Amino acid sequence: MNLLAKAASGARLSADEATALYHLPLFELAAAAHAVRSQRTDPEVVSYLIDRNINYSNVCTVGCAFCGFYRTRRQADAYVLSYEEVSAKVLELEAVGGTRILMQGGVHPTLPFSWYTGLLEHLKQRHPRIRLEAFSPEEIRGMAKLTGMPSLEVLKALQAAGLDGLPGGGGEMLVDEVRHARHISPARISAGDWIRIMDEAQSLGLYTTATMVIGFGETHAQRVASMQRVRDQQDKALASYGNGFSAFISWTLQTEGVRVHGKVPGAGAHEYLQNLAVSRLFLDNIPNFQASWPTMGHKVAQTALFFGANDYGSTMLEENVVSQAGAKHRRVNEREIIRQITEAGFRPVQRDSLYNVVRVPDAAAILAQKPEVDFGALEAAF
Ligand code: SF4
Repeated sequence: MNLLAKAASGARLSADEATALYHLPLFELAAAAHAVRSQRTDPEVVSYLIDRNINYSNVCTVGCAFCGFYRTRRQADAYVLSYEEVSAKVLELEAVGGTRILMQGGVHPTLPFSWYTGLLEHLKQRHPRIRLEAFSPEEIRGMAKLTGMPSLEVLKALQAAGLDGLPGGGGEMLVDEVRHARHISPARISAGDWIRIMDEAQSLGLYTTATMVIGFGETHAQRVASMQRVRDQQDKALASYGNGFSAFISWTLQTEGVRVHGKVPGAGAHEYLQNLAVSRLFLDNIPNFQASWPTMGHKVAQTALFFGANDYGSTMLEENVVSQAGAKHRRVNEREIIRQITEAGFRPVQRDSLYNVVRVPDAAAILAQKPEVDFGALEAAF
């Protein structure tokens, strides 16, 4: 069996085989990835999530050169949202049928641990039906350092306060040689610590996702090495806890307006689609792959639905970390997502963050109407 046929069959690939996939013609790779996606998920359906991203603070001490979002504590536009401000944003999400918030900030040097647990308790009490997915492994590591507690104890305390899951932020390239390069993010959490904290979260039954960013100048072999860490962890988590990464989300480095600009090559649509297809073929133990419209735009995201993706991501009302590094496709609402999925020839379904279908929208009726809620206006109000 040749490599492409093996890949399209869904058989497990070695790292060398996955690296070789990058040299195959793009559309042959797409056909293999789409075949595997169609075996593992409903071939006619593309799911999406109604959620809201909330950046509770922009203060961060890590200083990644690709990040245009963070501020030092003393900068004039540094902020920490109050509990009431966060709650007001969740209220708006509830008003449009949303089911989850994704809450991330930076690594704040002085915010006490009780502030985080208090925030979760406040939100759980006010919004018991909204899932709270918050704090990437980098933030968990920051809380562990600040409190002197092991990260597992930090996670247990956050879970007791209402945390439902951890976003996959910081997983961008799980190869220390790349992520810790001086011109990229030398102070970033190591690949090993990222995996360890995700493992701890999975052991507690918390929801997790894995992410990947390309465009740092990494080799194909390093991309596959990063995926290998995710696949190995997923094997372990599924065998040990029956619970692992629910989705894999990849995008390209946004370099406009940030310090890394001109020092790394970035990556375009071709590389994004190629890498998405390889990840779908190599990560045989992860069910769901998201198309990334915020960084790639809707046309590329629609194309991604034929390169292995089965999910259109989420309404992402706010995403300051990506948008401040140049992503131009920030605002979207459910109607727009339904339009994109339908135009691509799939049936849209609204899911929750566990990938359960919560609603099958009447796409034709929704597209025939004007949107009931103007997300752009809502966002502008805050
Ligand atoms: S990417 Fe995250 S960890 Fe890095 S500087 Fe930005 S907020 Fe901080």
